[in-house]
Amino acid sequence: MKEIILLKDGEIVLKGLNRRTFEDVLKKNIKYSLHSLGSFEISSAQSIIYVKPLTDGVDLDEACDRISRIFGIVSFSRAAVCDEKTLDAVKRTATEYLEKKLRAAKTFKVEAKRSDKRFEYKSPEICRELGAEILSKYPHLKVDVHNPDITVYVEIRDFGAYVHTDPMKGAGGIPVGTGGNAAILISGGIDSPVAAYMMAKRGIKLTAIHFASPPYTSRRAEEKTVRLLRKVSKYSGKMTMFTVPFTKIQETIKNKCPEELFTIIMRRLMMVISEQIAENNDCSALITGESLGQVASQTIGALSCTDEAANMLVFRPLIGMDKQEIIDISYKIDTFDISIEPYEDCCTVFTPKHPRTRPVLKYVKEAEQKVDFAPLVEEALQNLKITYISADDN
Ligand code: ATP
Ligand code: MG
Repeated sequence: MKEIILLKDGEIVLKGLNRRTFEDVLKKNIKYSLHSLGSFEISSAQSIIYVKPLTDGVDLDEACDRISRIFGIVSFSRAAVCDEKTLDAVKRTATEYLEKKLRAAKTFKVEAKRSDKRFEYKSPEICRELGAEILSKYPHLKVDVHNPDITVYVEIRDFGAYVHTDPMKGAGGIPVGTGGNAAILISGGIDSPVAAYMMAKRGIKLTAIHFASPPYTSRRAEEKTVRLLRKVSKYSGKMTMFTVPFTKIQETIKNKCPEELFTIIMRRLMMVISEQIAENNDCSALITGESLGQVASQTIGALSCTDEAANMLVFRPLIGMDKQEIIDISYKIDTFDISIEPYEDCCTVFTPKHPRTRPVLKYVKEAEQKVDFAPLVEEALQNLKITYISADDN
């Protein structure tokens, strides 16, 4: 029996041209996400997107799994395609396709939607007719319109007639690419992959920036970041990661700046370098995994000081979240286990014993100005390493 996946897209408020762009991007994202599974025809009509496999033996379980992570989809159903658009074909398809589920259930109901008004039976007639057919084939069943074990959905649409059971929940959000580009500062920790996921969910296409300080940070710390990004890319799509060689800058901070300001100066330089990389790569915002009050560098004072270093808009989607709420999302997106692997991050290199939780911008700037960081920043920007991240490498 031929199957298809029917998708309902989100943000119904979108109209006209916006809706078209939204759907075009969504279709492109679906195509990209499924490309390694075989070929599919992806089309849309009446706010439904049809994903039709063109080759035999396509792994539709895997296709549904991937679709469940594409932003912009509210719900989706794996459905059987009736070989003709007739009531007989609907009856035949429903009773065969759903045989197992109908046998296992005690109660059922039929819901029909007829958006092709040329179809000769109206929705209530379809329900009645198909209901009677199901009862005659599966006499153990009873109709229960309020709380059935199984609901049989029939959709009579322009493209064909389809039968399925309860739709599955989609990832929600907005299609990646409709919200512009931003650069996520990604560490190997728990928070930044979650921040990346949350902004991708709002339609942002990601570029990633990672600061590495070898030999203080190991090759494995960077490799761990790559694996985290691959998990994120199952939602966000492919992205480019820039690794910034940060050792010289950190050593210079350690040798030339007051100890209690190490962290804040380091974070400001991270912002300066990230802003440059973002600008060079068509990104109009930065994203971090900071959460208010979590550590000394995430107080209002420290964050204002960090923020001042860059002119670009900075998204901090975790700012008001508790650690446990962040961890819950990291489980959901399957990054938690990688995040807790114990490799040093550059932020933990040279951490002061008593970092300033209320750094005074004036003093921070004075300390910075005693050192000529510009050539070091330039050198780091000249020596970026590029890694391409794709969900296919998972
Ligand atoms: P995370 O769990 O994301 O590491 P954190 O709670 O450990 O966050 P910090 O280490 O203070 O907090 O880092 C705050 C934010 O700064 C991170 O969420 C991330 O966006 C950015 N950041 C930290 N370290 C790096 C790094 N090595 N490369 C790129 N960005 C970093
Ligand atoms: Mg960290």
